[in-house]
Amino acid sequence: MESTEPYFKRFVFIIVDGAPYEIFKALIENGDLPNIKKYIIDRGSLNKAVSVFPSTTGPAFIPFFMGLYPGTANIPGIRWLSKSKFHAPHRFKRPGICSYMGIDGLRFEADLPPNFPTLFNFFSPVSNIYNLLARGCPPSKNLTRWIKLFVYTYAHFSHRWRFVNRIAERHLHQAVAAGDQFITCLFPAVDTFSHLSDIQSPQVLQTYREIDTAIGDLVHTLQKANTLDETLILITSDHGMSDTHTHIDIPQHLDDDGWRCLHYPKVWRQDAVSASMVSGNGMTHLYFKNNSAEKGWGERTPFEKLSQMGVISSLIELEGLGFVAGQSETGDIIVQGRGGQGRISCHLQGTDHGNPQSVTGTSKCSDSLRFSYQFTGTDPLGYGVHYKNLSSREALRKTYDTSYPDGIVQLWQIFKSERTGDLVLSAESGYDLRARYEIPKHRATHGALIAEHLHIPLATNYPIAEQCIRSVDIFPTVLSRCGHNVALHHIDGRVVE
Ligand SMILES: [Zn+2]
Repeated sequence: MESTEPYFKRFVFIIVDGAPYEIFKALIENGDLPNIKKYIIDRGSLNKAVSVFPSTTGPAFIPFFMGLYPGTANIPGIRWLSKSKFHAPHRFKRPGICSYMGIDGLRFEADLPPNFPTLFNFFSPVSNIYNLLARGCPPSKNLTRWIKLFVYTYAHFSHRWRFVNRIAERHLHQAVAAGDQFITCLFPAVDTFSHLSDIQSPQVLQTYREIDTAIGDLVHTLQKANTLDETLILITSDHGMSDTHTHIDIPQHLDDDGWRCLHYPKVWRQDAVSASMVSGNGMTHLYFKNNSAEKGWGERTPFEKLSQMGVISSLIELEGLGFVAGQSETGDIIVQGRGGQGRISCHLQGTDHGNPQSVTGTSKCSDSLRFSYQFTGTDPLGYGVHYKNLSSREALRKTYDTSYPDGIVQLWQIFKSERTGDLVLSAESGYDLRARYEIPKHRATHGALIAEHLHIPLATNYPIAEQCIRSVDIFPTVLSRCGHNVALHHIDGRVVE
C-alpha cells in the first residue's frame, strides 16, 4: 500500500438498512446524530456513495461483502426466476424460482458465487448481527442466527422493530468488548418503519437517534479497551428510500393483456406465460415464456421481439413507470421511456462495438470495458448527452448527480445475470410495482434505479477524498486500509483513496 496512513487492525461495519443519503446528511447537519458526527465524520468524512440496481436488501449487500455487482454474482433481485431451470414437473426444484423473503432466505449464501472471499475471510475472530450475507463467519459467531427468524417474525406482526434494533445494539456492545476484529451489525428498523409509515416519520427519526446513541456506546467501549485508534468504523446503508403514494399492479396489467402472470405469492398459477419478480418494490423482473421452448421457459427474449409482441408499448404507458429495459439481439441494453429510447453498449477496449460477447464480459477485465450511451427522442435516463467509450469510472462520474445515478453501468451489470428478466422495470419516485399481497401495505419504496434509492451515506472515521464511490468499492477499500490486498481477486470494485 502506498499510503503512509497506519493500517487499521479492527473493523466495525454498521449498516443502517434503508437510510437515504439526503436524510442522513440532514440529520447530521441538524445535530440529530451527535455521536456519529463527533466520533466518525469529524475525524473522517461523510460521502455520498452509490448503491446498485436493484437497490434492495440482499442483492445490495453483495457489493459490501464481496465487491461484486448483483449481476456478476447472479443474484439480480430479492426474487428471481431462472427461465432455463424453471420447468414442470419439478418447477420448484431449486434454483428455478426464488424469493429470499421466504424460506429461500436461508439459501442466500448458497446462491452466492463460489470461490470469492467475503469480508469475514480476512479477519479473526469475527461476528455477525442480523446481516444475511454471513459466508465466512463461523456459525457460532453469527450471533443472531437462532433468534433472527423469531424476532423478525414477531416484529413483522407487532411492529416492534425498536426491540429488534435493541438486540442488535446489545450484541454489538458484547462483540466489541470481547475483542472481535471484524463485526458486522445491521440495524433493520429504519427500513421497516419507513415501509410502515414514511421515510421521515417520528419513529423513523427516533430510530436514527437511537442508532447514534449505540454508536456513542460503541466508541466508549473501544476507548476503554484502548483500541479506538486502531479501529475502522464505517456506517452506511444498502439503499435509500422514497415515500409511496401509488401502487402499480403489474401482474394484473399483464393478465389483462393476455400474458397470464406468475407472481408471489401466486406462483402456482396454471398456464402462466409471464412472471413478475418484484424487489423492494420499486423494480421488477419480467419473464416471458418462449413458446418454442421444450424445457424451461427458454432463453432471454430479445427486446425487439417483445416490442413486436406489443409488450413494451403497453407497459410504458403505465403512469409512474420510469422505464422498461431489455436486451437487444445485438447484446446491447435498450432502455425505453415514454418519449424515447436509449441504448447502452459495452465492449472491451480495442474491439468492435456491438459484439454480443462483450456485454457479458467478466469482471476480470472491468478496467478495459468501454461504455457508450445513445438515445433517440427524449432521453429516458435524462442525461441528455450521447456518450462514447467511457470507462466504468467515467460513466459513474458523468451520471453521479443525475436522476439515474450510474445508470449506464448499473443497467449493464444487471443483465449479466442469467436470472435477470427479459425486461427490467424501474418505478418513478412515489410509485411502486406491487399493488397486492404486501401485508402490511408499504408506504415507502426502494429497489428502483432512481437517485433517492441509489444515493447512500458513507460515514468513515478516516477521510475518503474520492467523491464518486460505488458500494462495490467499499470491499477493496476497507480491506486495503486494514492491510489486505484483494488485487488478485477479480472483483467489480476498486480501491478509492
Ligand atoms: Zn425494505
